[in-house]
Amino acid sequence: MQAEIITIGDELLIGQVIDTNSAFISKKLNKIGVSVCQITSIPDDKDHIIKALKEAEEKADIIILTGGLGPTKDDVTKKTIAKYFNDTLVREASVLKNIELLWEKHIKQPLAQVNKDQALIPSKATALMNKFGSAPGMWIPKNDKIFISLPGVPFEMKALMEDEVIPKLKTTFNCPYILHKTLLVYGVGESTLAARIEDWEDALPRHIKLAYLPNLGKLRLRLTAKGLNKEQINSEVQQQIDQLLPLIKDEFVGFEDEESSIEVVLGKQLVKFGKTLAVAESCTGGKIAEHITANAGASAYFKGGLVTYATQSKIDVLGVSKDIIDAYTVVSLKVAEAMAKNALTLFKSDYAIATTGNAGPEKGDSNANVGTVFIAIATKKGVFSEGFNMGNHRTKVINKAVNKAFEMLQK
Ligand code: ATP
Ligand code: MG
Repeated sequence: MQAEIITIGDELLIGQVIDTNSAFISKKLNKIGVSVCQITSIPDDKDHIIKALKEAEEKADIIILTGGLGPTKDDVTKKTIAKYFNDTLVREASVLKNIELLWEKHIKQPLAQVNKDQALIPSKATALMNKFGSAPGMWIPKNDKIFISLPGVPFEMKALMEDEVIPKLKTTFNCPYILHKTLLVYGVGESTLAARIEDWEDALPRHIKLAYLPNLGKLRLRLTAKGLNKEQINSEVQQQIDQLLPLIKDEFVGFEDEESSIEVVLGKQLVKFGKTLAVAESCTGGKIAEHITANAGASAYFKGGLVTYATQSKIDVLGVSKDIIDAYTVVSLKVAEAMAKNALTLFKSDYAIATTGNAGPEKGDSNANVGTVFIAIATKKGVFSEGFNMGNHRTKVINKAVNKAFEMLQK
């Protein structure tokens, strides 16, 4: 089963809004065994919409459009769909009722004609009720294909996908089961790892696919399997994972479920052992703390952090000795270690992470080469630290340093 997603909106093509709708829709479709063969973004324009519909109809079984369903003149999707299907717009009583109820409850203003007209849909379409807005979704079968039009507003689109589209697709098509299992691996390059697991990879059955998704020191290995028998797929993938794990045991961090990451895995371990964490950041500018606190429940183990960006703040706030800074420079292993030790004491934590470096783009006051980063982890038993060169792209250096810090703590 193949799907194409067409996102409609001028704002997508001038870079004002990033198309997040397709990513969401693709994920949902994938889960029910529907592969997305193309994602297309086009402007709010009749001719472009007609052309995109024609092309999609040739390739895909399911065509999902988002956007352009608003009541204003710039939104032309509905009229264009009616034209494409040689159809006319008719008033759908259940949609009008839904709009009247929404207005009564939330808008509390007279219902304008343009809003009433939101209840007009092509006669061949079945309306999909929108809980959060006036534009209904539309489900239009044509031969053995299905066209689905959804509002552009992400939360309206999401609710319609989950409550209406996915259940309807499941009953319309005999969808296979797709399993994705993602293993998180830190601190090993993609090609090094690929060489190490080559024999295992070559022996994978044809219906189990492996993908490498590297990202600044963090590598995701995604196994995907598809088939009609759910139990069989689950057990086959598990067998493969059992064979893979011994090969990556030093770098494997955990499985990535929907939103998990090394921070989540670390958080769980800290909670399990009743340990706490603090941070003292310089070149990462608070990003380590941000990653930690992005997880609900972080207060159980995260004591807090300091962003001591200026050299003087490392002295005044964190209590790093000026002599160490003078002797070794501010971007040095010794300073990272002192920062970590002092954070451990200040926050009375069991572990502390510290970073100091030069993310670039210039050499700056520290005189350290661009990309130089020192990371230290202090524990009650001692400090361990390492120096790195993380490249010459500022954002990349910062994010790499964040990933590396978590990797070092994990070890
Ligand atoms: P409305 O009734 O709000 O006009 P609509 O179906 O016409 O609904 P659009 O006008 O196309 O939707 O989009 C509304 C808003 O939704 C846009 O301003 C944009 O912020 C967001 N949006 C639209 N398409 C996308 C998309 N593909 N990804 C993310 N956000 C989007
Ligand atoms: Mg629009």
